[in-house]
Amino acid sequence: MTFASLKLIEPLLRTLDGLDYKNPTPVQVQAIPPILQGRDLMAAAQTGTGKTAGFALPLLQRLMMEGPSVASNCIRALVLVPTRELAEQVQQSFQAYGQHLPLRSYAVYGGVSINPQMMKLRKGLDVLVATPGRLLDLYRQNAVKFNQLQVLVLDEADRMLDLGFARELDDLFSALPKKRQTLLFSATFSDAIRRLAGEMLRDPLSIEVSPRNAAAKSVKQWLVTVDKKRKAELFLHLYKTKRWQQVLVFVKTRKGVDELEGELQRNGISADAIHGDKPQPTRLRALQRFKQGEVKVLVATDVAARGLDIDDMPLVVNFDLPIVAEDYVHRIGRTGRAGATGQAVSLVCADEVQLLAAIESMIQQVLPRVDEPDFIPDHRVPQTVAGGAVIKKPKKAKKPKVVGGNKAGGLGRWLESDEPAEPPIKAIRKVPSFGGKPVKRSK
Ligand code: AMP
Repeated sequence: MTFASLKLIEPLLRTLDGLDYKNPTPVQVQAIPPILQGRDLMAAAQTGTGKTAGFALPLLQRLMMEGPSVASNCIRALVLVPTRELAEQVQQSFQAYGQHLPLRSYAVYGGVSINPQMMKLRKGLDVLVATPGRLLDLYRQNAVKFNQLQVLVLDEADRMLDLGFARELDDLFSALPKKRQTLLFSATFSDAIRRLAGEMLRDPLSIEVSPRNAAAKSVKQWLVTVDKKRKAELFLHLYKTKRWQQVLVFVKTRKGVDELEGELQRNGISADAIHGDKPQPTRLRALQRFKQGEVKVLVATDVAARGLDIDDMPLVVNFDLPIVAEDYVHRIGRTGRAGATGQAVSLVCADEVQLLAAIESMIQQVLPRVDEPDFIPDHRVPQTVAGGAVIKKPKKAKKPKVVGGNKAGGLGRWLESDEPAEPPIKAIRKVPSFGGKPVKRSK
């Protein structure tokens, strides 16, 4: 299968050739023809499958072939995404894919000044990539009008609901023209997503490129059990003994991110961190330094996870397991991308066994355990079995008389606070009814 056989126009084929995209990925094969025909689409596709090009290419082509030129403050295509990072990422993809087309695209998101965004919208844009909160602000200030809107894309729709954007999405949808093409992409399909799809889509074509809720196959996944207080020590041990090169590490809390970053730096490892407290330019700089290899370890919270487009990322470490099982799939989607193989390692303590069971139930496999002899936990992590069950209750084991036993040292209070998982960037201020908590998801 070639891109030409998908009936893409010459300027796009030229771009793809320049990018060295030799063949379309499965999601591109399935999504491009129906999108070109104007159909609504509901696509189960996770990050790393090439889904961005799957919607961006046909969308650019449709904008080239149809419709009037864009009027002041108007937009012709809107791509809603959950995070600032993903907004930048998707916008960069539109720019790359549309480099030989006379179309204008731009990204708007919160956490940066709104004025340049208003200025940019004045001339009108063919494609606007936006996070829901900032888009609503712009709409309420008359900086953006939807009367020319032809296509709406909801990218990572599950994540938008997780981040508490349901109210903002409702407000936006009621402002959009009813006659439009709508494309919904989601890594996972909870009942809430299916309901949203039922309301938003007109006779949609459903496509699925990986088994439902299954983690990427090209990723080798394993876990090491460890006592909570020794996670940082274990990470350092693994980093050194396994000669890890570039690692993306997920930590539950912002405080935990900062602490791990500090500990790594104290041990001479170049590390940077991204989380919701950091200003956008700082996050983008950290990401850039990581991509360029200046930084070996990037420590992140889940909010920062979306939209990290890092090719051939060899390794993702779950320093803490995610609270929401679906996030596991999103996290490890950072590795094994576009055909490359990768590894995902989880450092699991006894407190996390229920989270582990939920993840294993969702990915329909029990993660293999690899013991690190010097780190056998005092608090054993009960065995889990297929189907996500825990077969033994956590039980405090007797302290082994190991020389150098529990060496948490200055890290003794690591992640022991009851600090909640990172709240969404926008949701707390904007959506009191959700209170920043993930919406209840059914499996
Ligand atoms: P995505 O799933 O959209 O985040 O894309 C994952 C990565 O795959 C990105 O780095 C894209 O540049 C790359 N990619 C997308 N489509 C192709 C293709 N057909 N051939 C090679 N690489 C691709």
